[in-house]
Amino acid sequence: MTTPQAPTPGELAVLRQRYRLERERRVRPDGVGQYRDTEAEFGYYAADPYAGEPAGRAPLHDTVDVAVVGGGFGGILAGARMRQQGVQRVRIVEKGGDFGGTWYWNRYPGIHCDIESHVYLPMLDETGYVPEWKYAPGEEIRRHAVRIARKADLYRDALFSTTVTSLTWDEASETWIVATDRGDTFRATYVVTATGTLSEPKLPGIPGIEDFAGHTFHTSRWDYAYTGGTPDGGMTGLSRKRVGIVGTGATGVQAVPMLAEDAGHVYVFQRTPSSVDVRDNRRTTAEDVGADRDGWARERRDNYLRIVSGETADQDLVADRWTMSAGLLEKLLPSFRRQGDREAFEAAYEAADAAKMNELRARVERTVTDEATAEKLKPWYRYACKRPTFSDRYYPAFNRGNVTLVDTADTHGIERVTEDGVVVGDTTYALDCLIFATGFSVGASGIHSGKLPVHGRGGTQLLHAWAQRGPRSLHGFTSNGFPNLIQMGSLQNASSVNFTHILDEQAVHGAALVAAAEAGDALIEPSREAEDAWIAVLAEGAPDHEWFHAECTPGYYNREGRGRPNGPIAYPHGAFAFHELLRRWREESIGGILRARTSAPAQAR
Ligand code: NDP
Repeated sequence: MTTPQAPTPGELAVLRQRYRLERERRVRPDGVGQYRDTEAEFGYYAADPYAGEPAGRAPLHDTVDVAVVGGGFGGILAGARMRQQGVQRVRIVEKGGDFGGTWYWNRYPGIHCDIESHVYLPMLDETGYVPEWKYAPGEEIRRHAVRIARKADLYRDALFSTTVTSLTWDEASETWIVATDRGDTFRATYVVTATGTLSEPKLPGIPGIEDFAGHTFHTSRWDYAYTGGTPDGGMTGLSRKRVGIVGTGATGVQAVPMLAEDAGHVYVFQRTPSSVDVRDNRRTTAEDVGADRDGWARERRDNYLRIVSGETADQDLVADRWTMSAGLLEKLLPSFRRQGDREAFEAAYEAADAAKMNELRARVERTVTDEATAEKLKPWYRYACKRPTFSDRYYPAFNRGNVTLVDTADTHGIERVTEDGVVVGDTTYALDCLIFATGFSVGASGIHSGKLPVHGRGGTQLLHAWAQRGPRSLHGFTSNGFPNLIQMGSLQNASSVNFTHILDEQAVHGAALVAAAEAGDALIEPSREAEDAWIAVLAEGAPDHEWFHAECTPGYYNREGRGRPNGPIAYPHGAFAFHELLRRWREESIGGILRARTSAPAQAR
């Protein structure tokens, strides 16, 4: 890779001005209110295109050791790590027809994970599986989720096509009552919530969106019955169709080249271009990744986390565009570390950012032959403003005669949808099929969304308990008043682009909590003092990068241009340090979270 040229101060000033103008073109007064969810009646949301109508079954009223809400990687890993601790009855309850979560629902053409498969796929050491590609296709990942679930014997008690509707702590028996939309009311000694962060599809609230008379769906519910083909292509049903796709985020960037190959004509409705860096996918061999050594995957994953968490590492094992640009993503870390002189550091950071973005804009220019199209595809913002994407096929797709880029920045997105198609400016684009690659509601799933009420001690609802002073927890996992409830997710915890690694560490921690409680015949419940102490740790290093996001183009990273709230929302020193902290806490202090039971001892329950 050639080192990008550092821009001069004059060039930086011009860039700053350009970024400001591009942001102003895009900020909308309605902010996050511009979206609507997909539970609307007008057919965008097929409940489950893969499982069909769920088979009837009798409601369950039994008792299990652990109930897990959600059968994505979070839930599967929680189950697998519980098994390693000897837990017998683990019941995962999942809305979809099988395990996989994101990888169950998202099967759009071209789907791959853009995090290296050897660090993204969990439990490779334990399953002995070596992914075939450096960046795995969605189906390989979904199959790996199933592989872990089978190995951990999680199918035995699982409930699919079932949504948990409430969780209620029963003081007398000191168990949770889990209610579902299939009439189940079963009991569980422990509950783990693993409901994901980007799981509720969202649609733009474009006027007339209900009126479109052609075929339409969201990318997370791809309708192969209509398009034909598979995630690998062959969508013969589109060969004579005019297809519109709205959205050019990580999903759109993967789907567009596939549509370009198969559809009669593709209109790509873009509001903000993504930055699209080199992909360089290739088959891997076991030798490539050192898979002949015990613990190779753990070592590689830890090395990756070190680098993307801003820690120093002796070597970069993955060596891809994520790790090479990791320094530029520090703005996304909870606490942005400034070494030495703040101004000098900021200046160096900005210069490196500008050099990288210049390199990415030059990539567009080199690849896209039509100058006007190339100009529209160039990203004009700082690297960490939007999620970076990676593809070697996206830009070349715009050199085809059957692909038209429609830039909607000046009109803040598509203005109107009619019976026939999409209106942008003076032009109506007549379409047979309109596909929404418009992403997901952020943080709107599970117990934090209000859609799944959790009643703890004295019937208190979790969100009510948090209404006055905000969320309260120890390490993000457990909360006072909600015994034996283990929350997975990034709130007051830690995060990383390699989210399965985060989930695995959370699963290990959750299983250790359960093992400790079982060993002591106790309840897991932090004291209020422990919560206060944890909030103080978070607050002490709370982020000060709000200004950065306030100057970014709008998107879900910055609440559509409003900036990112500063505050005690995550562990401030990054995921790598957080995992170290948890390990130490488990060794030295886990007993502090245990409380004596008042109900019958375990043998009698
Ligand atoms: P995003 O939220 O990232 O992108 C949504 C897209 O829809 C944006 O381009 C947005 O434009 C556009 N959009 C929204 N409203 C309108 C409108 N009214 N008119 C025109 N365009 C509109 O969703 P994705 O599904 O692409 O990605 C969601 C997340 O899923 C990613 O950030 C990533 O975390 C994950 N993902 C991960 C992958 C992986 O390989 N690991 C692959 C795919 C997704 P604008 O930018 O202007 O708002």
